[in-house]
Amino acid sequence: MFAIFIVTCVVAYLGYRLHSLTLSGALLTVVTGTVIGLSFGWFGLYLLGVFFSTSSLASKYRSRDKQGVDDIVEKTGARDAIQVLANGGVGILCALGFLYTKDYVFLYMYIVSIAAATSDTWGSEFGVLSSHRPRFMFTFKRVEPGTSGAVSTFGTMMSIVGAFVIVLSSVLFIEVDLPLFLMLWAIGLSGSIIDTLLGATVQRKFRCDVCDKLTEKKIHHQVPTIYVSGSRLLGNDAVNFLSVLGATVICFFIFR
Ligand SMILES: [Zn+2]
Repeated sequence: MFAIFIVTCVVAYLGYRLHSLTLSGALLTVVTGTVIGLSFGWFGLYLLGVFFSTSSLASKYRSRDKQGVDDIVEKTGARDAIQVLANGGVGILCALGFLYTKDYVFLYMYIVSIAAATSDTWGSEFGVLSSHRPRFMFTFKRVEPGTSGAVSTFGTMMSIVGAFVIVLSSVLFIEVDLPLFLMLWAIGLSGSIIDTLLGATVQRKFRCDVCDKLTEKKIHHQVPTIYVSGSRLLGNDAVNFLSVLGATVICFFIFR
């Protein structure tokens, strides 16, 4: 227990020093890591580590080529506490469920929650580097890279690989046969599909009066942006949380 806490602190500190986490993000990482480690042991921490390290690397990968995207997405750079909760909050709930019931369904749900978060993060971090502009989910019109609810072939491919990597990483430590493997992979992937659907429909979008760009930011070019569509309550973090939660709930009903 104490060792798990220390390792989590070291990882959070490194994340902070490497500018992958803000101070609040690092503190929430300690809470998330400790609860997950307490319930799922080193396996839980290891899987969280695979998500955290690959996603941080994906964010930093060709970051200079992503500067146009910084104009559109709500938050860029180091992840804050809300972003850590958006991706890891459902993992905490699964950990608490397993801690009190010892039911394996909560372990599978945890794997799915991390696979969904990874799938979604890889999809967006790599997808924006696609050589073609993405197409919006329902209209199939080409839009600016980084637009929520839009997909590219490369981004979709990386979402599939992201979910695969998490389930594959689990196989090394827990017993997973082929049907279960395929199930967890598919349900994890469903998280990024839900994310795209919500991003295309209910996620809030604004328009900048100065440059006329669609953006998730409330302030653009130092002026408040104009509300265009979506629910004002649902920003990128809420949509992330709901999509990870959605995939995990699907997992619960399939394995119950
Ligand atoms: Zn602007």
